Amino acid sequence: MAQVALESVTKVFPGGVKAVDDIDLIIADQEFIVLVGPSGCGKSTTLRMIAGLEDITAGQIYIGDRLVNDVAPKDRDIAMVFQNYALYPHMTVYKNMAFGLMMRRTHAGWDNPLAAVVAPGKYRQARQERRAIRDRVNGAAEMLGIEELLRRRPRELSGGQRQRVAVGRAIVREPKAFLFDEPLSNLDARLRIEMRGELKALHRRVQTTTIYVTHDQEEAMTLGDRVVVMKDGRVQQCATPFEVYERPVNHFVAGFVGTPPMNFLSGRLRRAGARLAFDDGEQRLTLCPDHQERLAGLADRPITMGIRPEGLCPTQAAPGTTLRVQIGVVEPLGDRMDVLASTPRHQRIVCRIDIRQRVREGEIVDMQVDMNRVHFFEPGGAGRNVNLPAGASQG
Ligand code: ATP
Repeated sequence: MAQVALESVTKVFPGGVKAVDDIDLIIADQEFIVLVGPSGCGKSTTLRMIAGLEDITAGQIYIGDRLVNDVAPKDRDIAMVFQNYALYPHMTVYKNMAFGLMMRRTHAGWDNPLAAVVAPGKYRQARQERRAIRDRVNGAAEMLGIEELLRRRPRELSGGQRQRVAVGRAIVREPKAFLFDEPLSNLDARLRIEMRGELKALHRRVQTTTIYVTHDQEEAMTLGDRVVVMKDGRVQQCATPFEVYERPVNHFVAGFVGTPPMNFLSGRLRRAGARLAFDDGEQRLTLCPDHQERLAGLADRPITMGIRPEGLCPTQAAPGTTLRVQIGVVEPLGDRMDVLASTPRHQRIVCRIDIRQRVREGEIVDMQVDMNRVHFFEPGGAGRNVNLPAGASQG
């Protein structure tokens, strides 16, 4: 097992696309880190550079203490699980899992009975190698609950079973690090959730450094010890799931993480006597004491306020903490419902509320805003979270 470190890593493809732009990242030994971001943000390219499948244009990559920039993929001591699993169709599950180890045998030429007579020592070692491989494959198969499948071929397996075999093939190698590239994206929603749990439990057991790529923020948040949110080839934020959710460094991260996404309201901070309020041009919301203090210097400047859907709740609360909205569509979700609402200034505000609340389409409702949990950003899609100190939480 090992730490993996990226120092100022950049990738420019022939033709000029800068897929990865000066990334610094240290993945601790035994850590499970997830690279997440929208399509084209450079997460797969980053993973492929760590694997050695893609040359790097500038920077250094270390696996353990070893600089691997010029080391071939097979010599990096990593195991990769791809989206399409890349199993050998003509081999049984056992052979698929054993294949990498078989290729590394040093006494493979001494398996035959003649060797037992002419070179008994080498024959014995060859037998030990085979036994060690068998034990590793059986151990991994047991860990993944696929012992019954070892004699089958990939075409005789379900998607979830194939996925387990691909993971098993990675485990038996006992590599320094696992690299996963969207390994669950071919599975249906229910199986994805099940496999997600299994991968997490597996990591707790084998504790191998793991770098996992997905475009699914929910998968990232449930799996990662830390989450690396990327956009346009750059790391936006690298932090624990809690930190990324509760203290997003900018508008992009705030909008990317969370389902349904955060609501953004544009307006200004206005002074009303000694107190500061957010004013969207129609309605005012008084800031909580903590924000009053931190944002005192931003009065009258344009600002974006972020409210998570669960931070809104229909209520009779005092003016200054409620937003008057008109209810649009109501989407029941079992114990909760998503309510699409609007104000004269903002056409789409999503509120996630308890199913027992009574709201009807077309109705005007006062929604209490949890002002302790709102966020403020500089204007624009990349606007910095002004609640946080500059440069906060980058790693
Ligand atoms: P996705 O989730 O869609 O797989 P990603 O975040 O993994 O996206 P990458 O595959 O790393 O993104 O691609 C990053 C950028 O590099 C994209 O703009 C992509 O078009 C470009 N790119 C990727 N591979 C190549 C290539 N071989 N040649 C040129 N440009 C490439």
